[in-house]
Amino acid sequence: MEPDRKIAFEAVKIIRERKKELLLSAAVPGLGQVYGKRYLTGLSIFTIFTFPFYYWYLLGFPLNYGSVTLGSAQAFLYAIQLLDAKRGVKRETSPCEDFCPAEVKVPSFMACCEEGKLEEGFGIFFLSSPFPFTLGELCPASCEEKCGILPERPLRIREVHREMGRIVLEKLEIKDREPFFPLTDKRVAVIGGGLAGITAAYYLASTGVQVDLFERERELGGLINYIPEFKVNKELVRREIEYALSFKNIRIFNETEVKKKLEGYDWTVVSVGAQLENKLNEIEGEENVIYPLEFLKNPPDLKGKRLAVIGAGDTALDVARLGVRLGAEVSVFYRGKAESIRARKKELSAAAKEGVKIYTNCAVLGAEGGELHLSCGRYKYDYIVPAVGFKVDESLVKKLAGDRTSITGDTATGMTTFVEACGRARKTAAQVLKKLGLSERAWFTVDIYRKKPERVSGKNLFVVSESSLCQHCGIKVRS
Ligand code: SF4
Repeated sequence: MEPDRKIAFEAVKIIRERKKELLLSAAVPGLGQVYGKRYLTGLSIFTIFTFPFYYWYLLGFPLNYGSVTLGSAQAFLYAIQLLDAKRGVKRETSPCEDFCPAEVKVPSFMACCEEGKLEEGFGIFFLSSPFPFTLGELCPASCEEKCGILPERPLRIREVHREMGRIVLEKLEIKDREPFFPLTDKRVAVIGGGLAGITAAYYLASTGVQVDLFERERELGGLINYIPEFKVNKELVRREIEYALSFKNIRIFNETEVKKKLEGYDWTVVSVGAQLENKLNEIEGEENVIYPLEFLKNPPDLKGKRLAVIGAGDTALDVARLGVRLGAEVSVFYRGKAESIRARKKELSAAAKEGVKIYTNCAVLGAEGGELHLSCGRYKYDYIVPAVGFKVDESLVKKLAGDRTSITGDTATGMTTFVEACGRARKTAAQVLKKLGLSERAWFTVDIYRKKPERVSGKNLFVVSESSLCQHCGIKVRS
């Protein structure tokens, strides 16, 4: 059985058990908790709830201030214990989980890796995102900033799930598959085949909803297609996308630009991203200005040329590093201070090592005759690439959105990271299921925790040694 299907079934079992516990607690307070093996909690609830009835009985059921107060307290206790039965055993999460925008169950997949159960870890990752490998390649890893095990050298969480994803994906047989639940007659359109759109399509289709995914480009993946090959293993990323979209109930419409609201669907998810490039007015109209998406898709001949890159985000550094590889002398100009650079430190040092010159506190004032005028001096260039951010095409979003529509990914917030966009899309999928009356099928909203194993038994040296360092800090399981 596929790893994500296995985890989904486990999650559904938990949802069903919770429902049973809720019903039992509604019939007899505390019984649901006992059924859920929380004996002490259940018996305490039962005793505290039933004891006052005996007291009333002894007094002959008087109706006075005292008995009304006692009755209200019992009603309150009844409601609270129902809530408790619905929530079941609660877990306090670890700092790394709290700081992961996709809410990846880090200690759980680490525990599986430690035991050598990579497929299980892979499945657990799917509770949060269908991209263990891709996020392992691209995520800025905010979780690692909070890892307290070795402050000088946090656990390489991102690399562990990238490696886990790679190993499992290379073995996985990808073929058309049935959804995890029986097919429904609900139809959802997902507009935009970037990582967020694919995430929404994956979760919705897995629950038996019929999904149509529309992408205006030939390749799915959105902005990921513009990331240079040297930075990410595109073959495995494509394999991961293929696996996420392998449900029989997903229809993919490539090279289909949707320009107005779609009819005939129960719900529409708009995830067209934030792909309008911000213009740099100071150099508008100058020759040899190429914006990043065009540059990354079709770079010009740069052998022996001077390339000026404006901005210091991830895209600017992708442009700069590609420029160096194509034989250009590359300088990056950033108007802010070094501390406010948004790109990852690792990216910055890689670019610097490859020969990219990075100038900070250097704003563009204008350009004339192949010379860039900057607040820090002048620079002769052959090409300029202004990589100064992206924005959402609001007018398009207005045309696509209607009553039964959710806007997700970067379309909802403006440009963020891949992991943030994917995290948002998963939450959107859960909301859509609720609107469609299918929230019982939202397996990816359930928390599944795997305890740290007693002994290390995995074979992959890096994955095992790194994950065995994880101490599951901050985690408390409470009844
Ligand atoms: S997706 Fe990013 S933030 Fe989340 S666990 Fe992986 S590396 Fe950390």
